[in-house]
Amino acid sequence: MAKTKAATSSCSFCGKSKEHFKMLVSGLAASICNECIDRCNKLIRDARQRQAAASTSNKSTNDGKKKGKNKARKK
Ligand SMILES: [Zn+2]
Repeated sequence: MAKTKAATSSCSFCGKSKEHFKMLVSGLAASICNECIDRCNKLIRDARQRQAAASTSNKSTNDGKKKGKNKARKK
C-alpha cells in the first residue's frame, strides 16, 4: 500500500498555514493544528461542565422517566 500523505500543510479547521502554528495532526481527510485542538479541548470541557450542571439541576424533574439510564460513572 502506498503511503498517502496529506497534501495540505495547513489546518483544515482554521485554514492557517504551517508558519502560524506549532503542530499539525493529520488524519485521512483532514488536518488539525494545535490551536484548534486547544479550542476543541475547551469546548469539550465546557460541554461536559454544562452537562454536569444540567444533569444535577434536572435530577428531580426527570427522575421517574430516566429509569435504568443511571449509569454508574466514576467521573
Ligand atoms: Zn487550526
